[in-house]
Amino acid sequence: STLLEIEDLGVSVEDHVILDGVNLKINKGEIHVLMGPNGTGKSTLVSSIMGDPRYEITKGKILFKDKDITDEKTDVRARSGIFLSFQTPEEIPGITLENFLRTAKGAVEGRPPKILAFRKELKAQMEALDMDPTYAERYLNVGFSGGEKKKAEILQLLMLQPRLALLDETDSGLDVDAVRTVSKGISAYHNQKNAVLIITHSAKILEGLDIDYVHVLEGGHIVKTGGRELSSEIIRSGFNSIEKGADGHE
Ligand code: ADP
Ligand code: MG
Ligand code: MG
Repeated sequence: STLLEIEDLGVSVEDHVILDGVNLKINKGEIHVLMGPNGTGKSTLVSSIMGDPRYEITKGKILFKDKDITDEKTDVRARSGIFLSFQTPEEIPGITLENFLRTAKGAVEGRPPKILAFRKELKAQMEALDMDPTYAERYLNVGFSGGEKKKAEILQLLMLQPRLALLDETDSGLDVDAVRTVSKGISAYHNQKNAVLIITHSAKILEGLDIDYVHVLEGGHIVKTGGRELSSEIIRSGFNSIEKGADGHE
């Protein structure tokens, strides 16, 4: 069944039209990949799905779990199960990773998690991600390496279990081992009740994941949709090598 439905979405930033007529449907159990040249609006799209107020919706709508969320605030969207992993995770001095996760989990679930069970789960998930357990006591992302920041994002995914995970270049700047760990984390998170949208420029993070659709965003809308082979073709030969629909559809 449908989790996210985007209809004819238009988005502007500071009066520049970035997205113009994006259509996208994501069902439960699916993994989608979003590709496109730099500056084409991929981050704009996921930020708009998350309700970032810097992005002005000029037309169309966003439905999540059959509910129109186009005008909802970010925290409402987060509580209803949408999660965005940022391209550049923010450093938050003063709040530890553990406290951040506990607060976020409490906010999403409507009541604070039981401490012991929470600690136990946190420890297990950090182990699965090859994260040093002392990171739980450190301020969120402060002094974390690029790889540890991305792992902290995947840790959130595993601990918060959102319904829809939007992963914006979670693999960028990571060494091969870290990408493999992040990819394994996504795999461990994914099930038939949730869905994932991955923005990436490379193949490594997609290995070992069961990709259902690959979309190409260009000129403000999705110009092509295909299967895993489309991502391989793009990574091999670039965006100019693929045949695109004339009107934004295939
Ligand atoms: P991508 O993620 O595909 O590289 P972005 O969505 O980051 O592309 O950016 C699309 C366009 O929108 C770019 O031209 C970028 O400069 C502009 N843009 C994105 N976010 C902002 C912002 N907050 N303020 C101003 N311009 C922005
Ligand atoms: Mg699947
Ligand atoms: Mg981006």
